[in-house]
Amino acid sequence: MNLRNSTAILLLLAGRVLAAGAAAEIKVDQVGYLTGAPKVALVAVAASQNAPTEFTVKRAGDGGIAMRGTLGAAAADADSGDRVQAADFSKLTAAGRYYVDVTGVGRSWEFAIGPDVYGRAWYLAMRSYYGQRCGTAVDMGSEFPEFTHAACHLEGTWHASSGKTGARESKGGWHDAGDYGRYVVNSGLSTGTLLWTAEMYGPAVRGVNLKLPESGNGTPDILNEIRWNLEWMLGMQDADGGVWHKQTSEKFSGFVMPEDDKLVSVVVGSGTEPFKTSCATGDFAAVMAIAGRAYKPYDAPFAAKSLKAAEQAWLWLSKYPAAMFRNPQGVSTGAYGDGNCADEALWASAELYRTTGKPEYHTYFLSHYAAFLPGLRPAGPQSWPTVGNLGLWSYVLGGGKDAEATAAIRKASLAAADQIVERTKANGYLVSLTARDYIWGSNAVVANYGMQLLVANAFERKPAYTETALDNLHYLLGRNPLALSYVTQVGQNPVLHPHHRPSGADKNAAPWPGLLSGGPNRGKQDDAMRKLPADTPPAKSFLDDQEAYSANEVAINWNAPLVFLMAGVMGGK
Ligand SMILES: [Zn+2]
Repeated sequence: MNLRNSTAILLLLAGRVLAAGAAAEIKVDQVGYLTGAPKVALVAVAASQNAPTEFTVKRAGDGGIAMRGTLGAAAADADSGDRVQAADFSKLTAAGRYYVDVTGVGRSWEFAIGPDVYGRAWYLAMRSYYGQRCGTAVDMGSEFPEFTHAACHLEGTWHASSGKTGARESKGGWHDAGDYGRYVVNSGLSTGTLLWTAEMYGPAVRGVNLKLPESGNGTPDILNEIRWNLEWMLGMQDADGGVWHKQTSEKFSGFVMPEDDKLVSVVVGSGTEPFKTSCATGDFAAVMAIAGRAYKPYDAPFAAKSLKAAEQAWLWLSKYPAAMFRNPQGVSTGAYGDGNCADEALWASAELYRTTGKPEYHTYFLSHYAAFLPGLRPAGPQSWPTVGNLGLWSYVLGGGKDAEATAAIRKASLAAADQIVERTKANGYLVSLTARDYIWGSNAVVANYGMQLLVANAFERKPAYTETALDNLHYLLGRNPLALSYVTQVGQNPVLHPHHRPSGADKNAAPWPGLLSGGPNRGKQDDAMRKLPADTPPAKSFLDDQEAYSANEVAINWNAPLVFLMAGVMGGK
C-alpha cells in the first residue's frame, strides 16, 4: 500500500513551502470542489486521541491562511470503524489550489476550487477507453510518453461452442478490464452508459478533444471513441440477428503487454442451438438503438446501420428470450452469465421505441415495465446483470407517451433518490454505499448511485440530488477512509498498482491513466486480499496491489458511470 500515515512534513526550500507528505487522517477530494457547491473535508483521528476542534484551509502556493473553521462533532462510522469529523469550508469560493491543515494531525493532500475542476479528470477517464483499444496500435502521446502498445489479438477462430468452425476475424473493441477479453454483455452497459453521457450532457463533453486518431473528423470524440467498441459489437452479430456472447482466449493470459499475448481469441457460444445468447442480444439491441439516434447528425449511414442491426437483434430476441450462457468446458475467462434476460429486453424495447416511435416496441414496453419498477430502489443500483433501470429511465427521458407509466417511473425514481440523499447525509464518509455494497467493484456502485441521482435530477431539479452525486464523486477521488484517489494518475495520492495487464507489464512506473479501481471489497475473493486481518472493516478492505484483483482491478463498466457522473456534475445544471 502507498498510504502514508505520517503527519505533514513541510520543507522550507528556497522560500517555498513544499508538501512532502500528507496525513491520511484528513480526507479531501484530491481533484477539487466546484466554486458554488458545498465543500467538506473529513478528519478521522483515533478514539484514543483528543478530537481536534479547529482547521484552517491554506493556499498551496504560499501556505497563507485562506479560511479558519471549526470541526463538526465526531460521529462513529460503522463501515470504516472511524470516528469522523467534518471540516466545512463551503464559504471559500476563490479559485485556486489549497490544502486543509489540522493542528496536531497534519495537512491534507492538495485540491482545487474552481468552476471546472473536473475537466482534466473527465478527459483522462474517458480517454482511458482509447488505451483499452484492441486490434490496433495505441499511443497515448506526448502527455504520456512510453504508454503505447502494438496491434494486438489479431488472430481469431470460432470456438466449437459457437456452432461454427475455422478462422474468424478478431479485431476491434475494448479490452474489458485488467484482462484482454471482450464481452458483449459488459460492453452493453458500458457503451450504453457512455452513449447516454454524450446524449444527456452533450454541451459539457461533445467539444472535448480526446486526442484520438479520429480527432477532427467532425464527430465529437466521445462518439469517436465509443464507435471503436460499437464496430466490434456489430461484428459479433450473426446473420440471423443473434449476438455471440464473447470473444476471448480460452484462459486468461499472463501479465504481458497485449501484443505479447499470443493466445488465440475465440468467439464463444452457448454450445447448443441457437448458439447466441439472449442477454448479449438484448444489450446489443439497446445499445445499437441508442447509436441509431446518437450518430445521426454526424454519420447518418452508420446510424441507420446500427438501428437496422438493433431491429434484427430484437426479432431474434423475440424468438429466443431465454437462451442462456455458461462457459463451455475448457473456457475459464469471465462468463458474464445472467439468469434472466427480461431486463435486457425491456431496455432494448425502450431504446428502440425512443429511436423509432414504432408501436410494437411501445406495446412490449407497456406490458412489461411494471415488473421492473422495484429495481428503482434506494439500495442496489443498475449493474451489468440488471439493466432494467436504464429501460425505465429511457422511456421517460425520451418523452414516452403513456402518462401512467411515466408517472410511475418518475415517482419511484424520485422516492429512491430522496432516500439515497438521506442515507448519504447520515453516512460518516458522506457516501451512498450501504454496508452490503462493499462488494467486488464497489466503486462502480458508488458511481452508479451518482448516476441514479443525476437521472432523478433530470426528472426534477433538486440541489440535493446533484450535491449527493458530488459527495459520491468526492469519495472516489480521495474523500474516503483510505484517503486514496481511486482513479489512476488523478490526484496527489492515487492508486498505483491496479490489476491491469498493460500497467503491470510495461516499463512505466505509473499505471495507465484515468482508470477507476474496483474499490473496497469485504468479500476478499483473492489470495492477496485474504491476507488482510479478518477484522478489517468493509470500507477499508482494499489493497493497492496488482495481485488483489477482487479489489484493485479496473473495468470498462466501472469507468463508464464515473464518466457519466463527472459529466453530469460538470454540465448538468
Ligand atoms: Zn487486444
